[in-house]
Amino acid sequence: MQSQIRFPHQSFPEHKLLVELIPGIYWVRFNLSSIVSHVNAYILRDVKGITIVDTGISSIDCKYIWEKILIDEFKGVKVNRLIITHHHPDHLGLLGWFHERFQAEIWSSRVAWLTARMLTLDVQETTSIDTLSFWYGAGMPGSLLSQRKKERPFNFCDYVDPIPLGYRRIVDQERISIGDNYWHINFGQGHAPEHLTLHCPELNIFIAGDQILPGISPNLSVYPTEPNANPVGEFIETCEKLLKIEDREYLVLPGHNLPFWGFKVRI
Ligand SMILES: [Zn+2]
Repeated sequence: MQSQIRFPHQSFPEHKLLVELIPGIYWVRFNLSSIVSHVNAYILRDVKGITIVDTGISSIDCKYIWEKILIDEFKGVKVNRLIITHHHPDHLGLLGWFHERFQAEIWSSRVAWLTARMLTLDVQETTSIDTLSFWYGAGMPGSLLSQRKKERPFNFCDYVDPIPLGYRRIVDQERISIGDNYWHINFGQGHAPEHLTLHCPELNIFIAGDQILPGISPNLSVYPTEPNANPVGEFIETCEKLLKIEDREYLVLPGHNLPFWGFKVRI
């Protein structure tokens, strides 16, 4: 089955800042030293400017790459808007930075927005008793538990710039215009609540975020905040929903790894 997944590029060219996948749609890749090895972002030519889908993490390296791209490749072009696929730090870390620097509008699902806002404000110096007992119940070995007890826990705000107060809400099944084209929105579940995907039948492009990845399933995690969640069930439900989309040999642009053809085979 994996042989039916095809890639227009076998890797991201080391010496380049971005790759133009089709006219007006660009792929940017950030190498990261934390959380995950890399993350993708996409730039779309828009009316009198550009729209950016996902930003990378808040780091000096990511900011440097964005500044270089905007100066070298899009000099004088306005950043109209940022669309966020889901609330994870590697995808929206620079939201606040873009908003402050370029006055870019922020477009997101409501749950992604609220979750990100809540998590940036929720700073925890120590791991809570509830989290420790959740980990214990999940079978974490005692030695690791006591190590975790001593460490500062993962804090969302360590990887994300402060998130601005307001945004423009995107709803499921909405159709939004970017440049000369309409893009259809589908919400997915399992990896992140109200994770949005965008596809454009005219361009045969499907921006998938982490909902569909070429080589692995996305991370489907149960967190102590919702110990009885069923992310696998929710993910499968989303796959069934996305399978109903007319198959047009979309080029899928994922949040990680390489753009690929074989959308339905992969699902
Ligand atoms: Zn991701």
